[in-house]
Amino acid sequence: MQLELVQASEPVAQASEAVVAVRAVGICGSDIHGLTGITGRRKPGMVWGHEASGIITALGPGVSDFKVDDRVVIFPNRYCGSCTNCRQGRTNICLQRQALGVNFPGAFADLVKVPGWMLRRLPDQISYEVGALVEPLAVAIHAADHIPNRLMDTVVIVGAGTIGLLIILCARLAGAGTVVITDKSEHRLAVAREIGADVAVNVDEQSPLDVVLDITNGEGADVAIEAVGYSATAQQAISVVRPGGHVAWLGNSTPLIEINMQDVVLREVTISGLLCYTTAEFDKAIAAIETSKMKVDTLIEARVGLEEAPPLAVELAKGTCDLVKALILP
Ligand SMILES: [Zn+2]
Ligand SMILES: [Zn+2]
Repeated sequence: MQLELVQASEPVAQASEAVVAVRAVGICGSDIHGLTGITGRRKPGMVWGHEASGIITALGPGVSDFKVDDRVVIFPNRYCGSCTNCRQGRTNICLQRQALGVNFPGAFADLVKVPGWMLRRLPDQISYEVGALVEPLAVAIHAADHIPNRLMDTVVIVGAGTIGLLIILCARLAGAGTVVITDKSEHRLAVAREIGADVAVNVDEQSPLDVVLDITNGEGADVAIEAVGYSATAQQAISVVRPGGHVAWLGNSTPLIEINMQDVVLREVTISGLLCYTTAEFDKAIAAIETSKMKVDTLIEARVGLEEAPPLAVELAKGTCDLVKALILP
């Protein structure tokens, strides 16, 4: 388990491409899982990093909407635009989908090269650091837009990682009545309370199901969102919804999990898998921050240079430090 800092040749912008000097890039849970190898979604030899903001240093011919020195945030997923899913607007599950820092070199670097269409303008009032949170916020917005979150619903979020915490902000904006979040980390639960969770449950001390039944007159929650990705958390998300409830799965930690199928079938629970976001959802994330509808800067808990990033990532992977969002500032 190691990340290495290497000297690479400087990227050159070809036609329709841009080179961006990275100013802030988030270390994602998926990068940490890549480091431990548990998900199998990261391969050695690739530059990771997909939550990036920066400033344009070079443009190839054919990029007309931007100029050098523009502040930008990078939309990190390539899609083909012509497969069945793309034609239905579901570009997040494009059959040819390719992700920055997974399939092509990412932003854990001084410079990153991307197609010009992946650039989004970073409004002046949004700092580069907060700009690096646009990507995870887009994940949360995609989730919040795909669950039936009606006014005054009880929404349970399993896992107070960056995504789980950002879903609190989305659920609040969408009109949830009671937002419950569960985790094992007192630190993360404290952050959750600070940004708007009504009830923060430490699963080592309380049964999430008992808490939810207590606040819903014994019925169960309307919606649960799983943002961790293990058997116990997937099962928890299913168990806390009422019959007819809806469960969304975003977590991705281990491919195979075990759940009680009867809890799903006999109670007609709907489970949906959710991945990433569309360009429209990414733009909503920028707008939500720009207009102060969502305040995300409290989630940034560490800032390191490129040299300090590998040891920090290893610490995060080992679980020896508990940080919500760590940023690399190249
Ligand atoms: Zn991410
Ligand atoms: Zn496609």
